[in-house]
Amino acid sequence: MLTRRRLLYAGLSLATSASFEAAFPAPWRRDVAFSQTLTVGGATIRIGIGRGDLAHDAIILWVRRAAEAVAHYYSRFPISSACVLVLPSSGSGIHDGTTWGNVGGSPAFTRIRVGDQTTQKQLDDDWIMTHELLHTGLPSLPDQNHWLEEGTAVYVEPIARVQAGQLDQEAVWADMIRNMPQGNPANGDQGLDRTHTWARTYWGGAGFCLLADVELRKQTSNRKGLQDALRAIAAAGGNISHDWPIERTLQVADNATATHSLTQLYSRMSSNPVPIDFNSLWTQLGVTPTGSNTVTFDAKAPLADIRKAIFSPLA
Ligand SMILES: [Zn+2]
Repeated sequence: MLTRRRLLYAGLSLATSASFEAAFPAPWRRDVAFSQTLTVGGATIRIGIGRGDLAHDAIILWVRRAAEAVAHYYSRFPISSACVLVLPSSGSGIHDGTTWGNVGGSPAFTRIRVGDQTTQKQLDDDWIMTHELLHTGLPSLPDQNHWLEEGTAVYVEPIARVQAGQLDQEAVWADMIRNMPQGNPANGDQGLDRTHTWARTYWGGAGFCLLADVELRKQTSNRKGLQDALRAIAAAGGNISHDWPIERTLQVADNATATHSLTQLYSRMSSNPVPIDFNSLWTQLGVTPTGSNTVTFDAKAPLADIRKAIFSPLA
């Protein structure tokens, strides 16, 4: 199930009065039974675990692994410090991940719930923690551009985990082939800035990122990709603790790759519904599904080198 959300409460916290907060306590303010601070990729990550029946060591390791995948993708963790609040819930599984910029005294704050029946395998297979921490690496964008915040997190999360040796690449391609088409405009849908359904926001945004990655690599003879672009945004200070317009965000990325790829793709897809021809794209990339988690690769496909480069770790 994809219940990926990211809400901005930064403005709310500034505007609230003490009496309002007593009635509606800020979601990042909870009693913590255990806390530990990690250093990952140059960042300080403070983890708090709420009162309940969770194995602290397993939770700390789970957060560390996700943070390491993010730091590996960005070459360092994309923000200098972050806070992660893990709240126990009943049942099994990980859910309700939300990441805010500038709340609770931290430039990045993630709150997430973990069921007290959650197994080690569920923690090992989890994608939500990585998804949430990836949100720290992009500036906070205006509401109509929320699809780019979610799209980058959806697209990058499995790539970061593959590059960190935590996930199998074949399963990721099979998942993309199955899920990406949901992001194409349905009847009556408009451009990405104008239709804010779940499918357009998450998978539409991820489709934009895939297309951007392929376009960038085509235009640079496969020397630069979306990973270079996202690293450049973070290196320029564009993280979740700052509000940036989307135009500035994409311009920083384009400058770093000496292209106009992202700006041009945005002007094409922001206001108008542009369906992506995924079948043709998979054929060009040389990837064919053979089962729910398996694919075959065609080394002679026209974009086979681009397909390989997308998952190859950057220096
Ligand atoms: Zn998200």
